[in-house]
Amino acid sequence: MWPSRNRTETVTCLACGDQVTRSKAREYDKHGDRWDREDKAFEHLCKECHRDLCHHPRNELEDLLVDLEAGSVPTDRFLADYLAAVEDRYGTLEEQ
Ligand SMILES: [Zn+2]
Repeated sequence: MWPSRNRTETVTCLACGDQVTRSKAREYDKHGDRWDREDKAFEHLCKECHRDLCHHPRNELEDLLVDLEAGSVPTDRFLADYLAAVEDRYGTLEEQ
């Protein structure tokens, strides 16, 4: 059953940690598939972070994450490897 629309529900932006009203948040599905809603809990982004995200292509992201063994190596090692791999493939993250 859906919660009442009158209730103010808040969610936490996964990027910046801000609490935002559910209706003002953007759903984020790490699998990039927002249409298959079954048995899923979406994460959320505030509008500002959602806007920041959209500049970067993510077509190859899943492959990249698999290559880097995301989730099975320590986070700091993963982040270092991720930045190195992204720079290697796409150039630096600086605005061009
Ligand atoms: Zn945010």
